[in-house]
Amino acid sequence: MFDSLEIKAVGRLLVSPQKIVLVCHKNPDGDTIGAALAMLHYLRKKGHEVTALVPNDFPGYYKWIPGAEEMIIFDRNARAVRAALASGQLLFCFDFNSLDRTGNMAPDLEKFAGKKIIIDHHLDPGDEFDHYFCSTASSSTGELVYEFIEAMGDKALLGVEEALALYTCIMTDTGSFSFNCNHGRTYHIVAELIELGIDAANVHKLVYDTYTENRIRLLGFALSSRLMVWRDLHTAVIYLTKDDLKRFDYQVGDTEGLVNYGLSMEGINLAVLLTEKDNQIRISFRSKGSFSVNRLAHDFFNGGGHINASGGTSKMGIDNTIGKIKEVLQHFKDELDYTVSL
Ligand code: 5GP
Ligand code: MN
Repeated sequence: MFDSLEIKAVGRLLVSPQKIVLVCHKNPDGDTIGAALAMLHYLRKKGHEVTALVPNDFPGYYKWIPGAEEMIIFDRNARAVRAALASGQLLFCFDFNSLDRTGNMAPDLEKFAGKKIIIDHHLDPGDEFDHYFCSTASSSTGELVYEFIEAMGDKALLGVEEALALYTCIMTDTGSFSFNCNHGRTYHIVAELIELGIDAANVHKLVYDTYTENRIRLLGFALSSRLMVWRDLHTAVIYLTKDDLKRFDYQVGDTEGLVNYGLSMEGINLAVLLTEKDNQIRISFRSKGSFSVNRLAHDFFNGGGHINASGGTSKMGIDNTIGKIKEVLQHFKDELDYTVSL
């Protein structure tokens, strides 16, 4: 799986106790949080001093993962983040392929004096790292973290805390085992995690069955009042304005998964979610089958991601952004016209 020279090189870096900093991407999801927290527990068992950083706050439904309470949030405590980076010797980056995916924290990471190590499953990792553990064939970064620990010869160190964190990565990045999971390897790893003593159904409940009333009502409102279906483009678009979010007392994570409802319709190959944030529009793209939303997000909306799941931004306002999406999609009309079949 990994280059054995890279494993040996990082193994040598970890021979003596190090000050290690772990970093998640902006708008953290279950994969980046779970990967960092699994590594936090694992590296501490190896005798290292470890700090975990996130650029901004993350959803409450990931805060039960062991160690989540000690993550330092850059938006709230830049001083503590800078102190950790100033004394750190090694930096591990999880679930992102370029430092600019950490938003306002990126300039501080660029200045980091020690070695930078990336563990990630996105396309096209940048050249700013020193050691690479990357594969787009993996379900999640969590799966790669498991393989990293295994390659280091440390499977025996894995316990319930790492298993809870890594199971969360795989479960969330595969939509509860509905995409990105057509490799037997993923299920072998999941079997090993369950044998470490976790209750997988319980993890699912903690992540997915903990909606607030406002969140479920926002979902209902979005589907009944903010869904547009462009049949000729095989596309469904949901948009939420700042006022909509305020009306339902939006909390971080409340729109997670919403875009997938558009995609769950028959005949729809592309789903888009637009959310109006302070001074820009956040866009999530999802596709079924061959249509690459990574290209769409990268070429037209300052973003990127995976072939079937990407994100981007726009500064044009919600109506103009919807207009731009429609206009851009005219060029892909033929590419979007397919039926997913066996
Ligand atoms: P989401 O729509 O859930 O925010 O993101 C879906 C996927 O796209 C994730 O894999 C995420 O890493 C990637 N992604 C989201 N926003 C951005 C962005 O602004 N830039 C890049 N390069 N990738 C993004
Ligand atoms: Mn991921």
